[in-house]
Amino acid sequence: MPIPSTARYVIIGAGIHGLSTAYHLARALKAKGRASQADIVVLDKASIGAGASGIACGVVRNNYFQPAMRELMAHSVLEWESDAKAYSYHACGYMQLSCEVMHEDISSIYQQQQAIGYASSLIEGARDCDIYLKNMFGDWQARGITSILHEKKGGYANNMASLYALGDKARAEGVKIFECVTVTGFEFDHTSSAISAVETDKGRIECEYVVIGAGPWISKLWNMLELPKSVSIKTGETTMLNDVPMWRFWQLEEGVLDVDPGFLLTEDGKMPPVIHIDTDAPLYSQTTGKLISDELWGIYYKPDYNFKGIQGGAMPYKINTPADEIKLDPYGPESPEFVASIEFADMWTSALAFCHKRFEGKNINYRNEKSGGLGCFTPDSFPVFDVFRQNCYIIADSNHGYKMLGVGRLVAQEILGETAALLEPFRLSRYGLGKLHPVSHSPFPWS
Ligand SMILES: Cc1cc2nc3c(=O)[nH]c(=O)nc-3n(C[C@H](O)[C@H](O)[C@H](O)COP(=O)(O)OP(=O)(O)OC[C@H]3O[C@@H](n4cnc5c(N)ncnc54)[C@H](O)[C@@H]3O)c2cc1C
Repeated sequence: MPIPSTARYVIIGAGIHGLSTAYHLARALKAKGRASQADIVVLDKASIGAGASGIACGVVRNNYFQPAMRELMAHSVLEWESDAKAYSYHACGYMQLSCEVMHEDISSIYQQQQAIGYASSLIEGARDCDIYLKNMFGDWQARGITSILHEKKGGYANNMASLYALGDKARAEGVKIFECVTVTGFEFDHTSSAISAVETDKGRIECEYVVIGAGPWISKLWNMLELPKSVSIKTGETTMLNDVPMWRFWQLEEGVLDVDPGFLLTEDGKMPPVIHIDTDAPLYSQTTGKLISDELWGIYYKPDYNFKGIQGGAMPYKINTPADEIKLDPYGPESPEFVASIEFADMWTSALAFCHKRFEGKNINYRNEKSGGLGCFTPDSFPVFDVFRQNCYIIADSNHGYKMLGVGRLVAQEILGETAALLEPFRLSRYGLGKLHPVSHSPFPWS
């Protein structure tokens, strides 16, 4: 099918954000009686789920130290729950286990979850945490956990299943999705500097409004829009940090242990919550016996029938190459450069065995296939949801975003003229104004 020469809304990227925005925008236009066949097209240079959304391990959680992130996640969890079957969403819950250095952060997250009505429980003190974990897993053996935040909502969803469901929902509302169409540039109105047309390798599309949900490719689209490559950040009453690069990349380290997912059922035979542990206990390699870390480290894991094993990851690492020089394509497991490392396999499987006796000696079951991928991060590692050049909505989730299924609904609302309070803390202007999100003690850039 050839692409149209005009469309009211052009959405770039068929990942979680592009598709959910398209779906909700189409519904909202219909509800206002303003829908037409020429309304919304989604363009993707490859296919649905070809980006980060298609390789995300799919964890959905609320556990964030930043109040604005937590409120946004609570909203997105409702979206997952709204059609759990179609989205292939498993509401098994989520559990954050931490050592003492994070205790205070975790207890403040718990207090604030109670304030917003997000169901969770907090277990404190090494002894009570140990009892709680051993009740759940008889073979629990990690020491030094002094707080557990057990979120009763959240869990995980199967990445491609949820994206195909979103694609189907959007198409059913009249959205046209074009795959294998690469956006190569924009035309701007001479007087207003707004976008007047989107240029692609299959022709140009005149449009009224553009939405960008390009995941890790955001820095490339940002350049096409000729937006600033750096920002100034107000760090105190009279202090500014200047020339901070707008985009930087981190490599996400994930993999799968090839055992039956039922290998990690709870003592009462149920699927466990997604588990995330952060600790500063020394971690030794199961393979060599050598010390891997005596500083704060963290892993997450879950039994997953979609990945057919125990799937999870560890802390990402920073890529020092400037954003403009990163070779993003081919992306994810196809990348010759940016895939999970051998060190990751040893660290993650050793950490699993550190937690549960059942994983001792199971490092040989680590699945020998390429996994992981790049994420593109903003200067403070939190999302930017904002309008640029008057008619271009950018959804730059700073790699937080598969779980943010609800953002598309809020963005659609803003495009149609109604400000979404939940998105307000994520404008670009926060850097210059010094309205920054609080930073936690977590070893992850996204907690
Ligand atoms: C290994 C890994 C695991 C993750 N796990 C989780 C998790 O468990 N939970 C969680 O919440 N988040 C997770 N994330 C983060 C999450 O996947 C991303 O934040 C989110 O999927 C980004 O969604 P998106 O729609 O913005 O972009 P994407 O899903 O990356 O989609 C962008 C699309 O844009 C297309 N595109 C790019 N450039 C162009 C162009 N010029 N023209 C046309 N199309 C273009 C791409 O082909 C792609 O399909 C993970 C990320 C990675 C890398």
